[in-house]
Amino acid sequence: MQISFYGAAETVTGSKYLVEANGQKILVDCGLFQGPGHLRQLNWEDPSFDPASVSAVVLTHAHIDHMGYLPRLVRHGFRGEVFATGPTSDLINISLIDSASIQEEDAAWRNKKKITRHKKALPLYTVENAKEALSYIKPTPYSRWQDCCQGIRIRYHVVGHILGAAAVEVEIRENGRKVSILFSGDVGRYGNPLTIDPAEPPTCDYLVCESTYGGRLHEPEDPRAMFIDIINQIVERKSVLLIPAFAIGRTQQITYLLNELMRHELIPRVDIHIDSPMAVSVTDVYTKFHDFHEIDIENLVGENCILGGCNVFLHRKRESSKKLNRLKGPAVILSSSGMLTGGRIMHHLMQRLPDKNTTVALVGYMATGTRGRLLAEGATELRIHKQVVKVNAEVITMHGLSGHADFYEILHWLEPVTEAPRRVFVTHGELDQAEAMAGHLKEERGWDCHIPKLGETVEL
Ligand SMILES: [Zn+2]
Repeated sequence: MQISFYGAAETVTGSKYLVEANGQKILVDCGLFQGPGHLRQLNWEDPSFDPASVSAVVLTHAHIDHMGYLPRLVRHGFRGEVFATGPTSDLINISLIDSASIQEEDAAWRNKKKITRHKKALPLYTVENAKEALSYIKPTPYSRWQDCCQGIRIRYHVVGHILGAAAVEVEIRENGRKVSILFSGDVGRYGNPLTIDPAEPPTCDYLVCESTYGGRLHEPEDPRAMFIDIINQIVERKSVLLIPAFAIGRTQQITYLLNELMRHELIPRVDIHIDSPMAVSVTDVYTKFHDFHEIDIENLVGENCILGGCNVFLHRKRESSKKLNRLKGPAVILSSSGMLTGGRIMHHLMQRLPDKNTTVALVGYMATGTRGRLLAEGATELRIHKQVVKVNAEVITMHGLSGHADFYEILHWLEPVTEAPRRVFVTHGELDQAEAMAGHLKEERGWDCHIPKLGETVEL
């Protein structure tokens, strides 16, 4: 019985944990690497295990760094079932197609502009590949045991973060031995109307715990107050507020917040442009799964939809996205990727970063080596598509909107786990954050922690 760490080890992206027992293999999460080139390169290389030998994939949630590798896994021979909660299944449907179309768009653009290091730029996967991967998804309820393969069953637990996100409990029976592993997934925060609060986690023999903010506490700043200032400023200047945002979760969170401020007449009415091939369908998922968040159903329909409404414009096609380059303010543009690693946000940055009237709000976690991190650290220029782009725009970092628990919130989430796990594997954090999280768990709980290296295998 063993576990191998093929992603999110000493880094925050590429989550992939291979569990082997009973001659079976299951993969928990199947994420893409993002950020520095040496990590992104791993998305292109052959996996370190044979995907054809994997019986099942178990996904924690619909973020690309947790499930975006699925089409590649299928391309390398995986043919098993893919377990995901109901909302996650729907969101993956939208998100994988979105991610594939953006990759096709990027590759076509690079070929047209001849800015590729290769003979021909290729997408990591196509819409066709994504569709095939989607055919293996099996929607799975929360809180109920689900047989996964011979001797292995799983159970999902609500964990906040984004709609449909879960921690997953894996129970293995092998030669009369029973072992449980709890994978935290991405632990969310309490009191977010777009999710329900994390549920009590079960006791477990082993815990795989995220540590994105393992060494930090979120500042108690109020994002509403910050948005009131920013929106008033862009209205006065007739300028554009550009917000890089994950297409799932973050985009809806910002739209919700801004629309709520407008409803309460705390800010003037401004147009919100959501620049994503998938934008519209996500609201439908919130409507369909209204038990899994705190927004009232009457706030999700018609003109009054707090995630849509008549001031929200959706840009599905690339041509429509390009037209936004000529957009005059006041207006808000929401575009992905959230960490400025690719996608449509690139052309907005090229267009708007040199303009001192533009405001860029960084609202999420920015991994080391991403343009998002450089910008947050005060870069005066960025390299985008082999060009040097001057940063004259005002860049504001907002901490209060994080979708990830800080270390204090993780410790709080783990409070009901009264029996110490035999070992805790601290993952999904840059090394300093993982070390800090391990330190807190040792100090506060006396738990034995280990920070696995990429590719490391541990006997259970
Ligand atoms: Zn996530």
